[in-house]
Amino acid sequence: MNDSQQFSTRAIHAGQAFDARTGSVIPPVYFTTTFVQDGIGGFRDGYEYTRGGNPTRDSLQELLASLEGGDVAYSFASGLAAEDTLLRAVLRPADHILMGNDVYGGTHRLVNRAHVPWGVSLSTVDMSDLDAVKAAIRPDATKVVWVETPSNPLMKVTDIAAVAELAHAAGAIVVVDNTFATPYLQQPLSLGADVVVHSTTKYLGGHSDVLGGAVILRSGDLAEKVAFLQFGVGAVSGPMDAWLTIRGIKTLAVRMDRHSSNAQTLAERLVGDPKLSAVYYPGLPDHPGHALAASQMRAFGGMISLQLADGVTARRFAESMELFQLAESLGGVESLVCYPSEMTHASVRGTELEVPDSVVRLSVGIEDVEDLAEDVLGALSRL
Ligand code: PLP
Repeated sequence: MNDSQQFSTRAIHAGQAFDARTGSVIPPVYFTTTFVQDGIGGFRDGYEYTRGGNPTRDSLQELLASLEGGDVAYSFASGLAAEDTLLRAVLRPADHILMGNDVYGGTHRLVNRAHVPWGVSLSTVDMSDLDAVKAAIRPDATKVVWVETPSNPLMKVTDIAAVAELAHAAGAIVVVDNTFATPYLQQPLSLGADVVVHSTTKYLGGHSDVLGGAVILRSGDLAEKVAFLQFGVGAVSGPMDAWLTIRGIKTLAVRMDRHSSNAQTLAERLVGDPKLSAVYYPGLPDHPGHALAASQMRAFGGMISLQLADGVTARRFAESMELFQLAESLGGVESLVCYPSEMTHASVRGTELEVPDSVVRLSVGIEDVEDLAEDVLGALSRL
């Protein structure tokens, strides 16, 4: 692999050398659980058993490490499996983790329900408020500062470099969930973050047909711990899932350009609509994080959230579109609409992460933007 190549080239070629035996342009998918040994311990290319290593998973991992600018990547069966493995590698009882106060509900639930009962403490803060972040970091106790930017669903933007400086001064690491932005739009490791996590289920896979997750970081002690737990706990991605994710990533750059331009057009047309009290999209000049997003992202991504008059109106709106299908998840080529307070963020109702019931989230796909605009504006006009 050639690290000097540009992103779009690496997205197609990193870790994807053609098959040496047959010349097959697409490397074969290694559907095997185990590998023959040339005498006991005589592993070919180091392969022994698929939980410990599989060439198709390795090829995805090499691709992910290249795209995020990390040394190593580990691929998992889901985004939450990736997050859980990373947190097991870092946190011990009595350690503290500080999270953004509008991270993905499932991430908060994972820590709150799986790690807190083992003695970890969790608190949340508005990550876009650096004074509040500084005050919330507990010297000696805080081991992880968890950032999602843009955040889900209110699209707040966090200054990754500034948070990294605060966290490092207190001896904590910074983890960035880069699912919304993808490495094409934002490269957290180059901004000072220590670890990037992904739900590859979303934009990286890109076609709503494969679940997966990843942890990407530099080599060192933490990478070795994650590598051990990937094997030792075993929440790995299977060969077919790894291959589908590789296939999705080949078109990541062109898809993200189109997601971003469609979302930008749509957001601009939605501003000022009398049925909306707010349009949350970092590409809008009056978004509070616009300048920061412009400085740390290549474009503003495909996610928009809308605030309607009240919960009843928001529900009706979410249920009344045609092209925007009502479903969980995001980042596929097709447009989806989600009602976070009862769908993606239902698990954080009653916590400080509760999403107002008047908010609707759009995952803007890569269909023709005129058709998308007609669908959304038509649904608003019928309210
Ligand atoms: N991070 C973000 C930002 C997400 O949106 C999601 C899922 O919606 C996850 C993590 C969890 O990923 P998965 O559903 O692949 O476990």
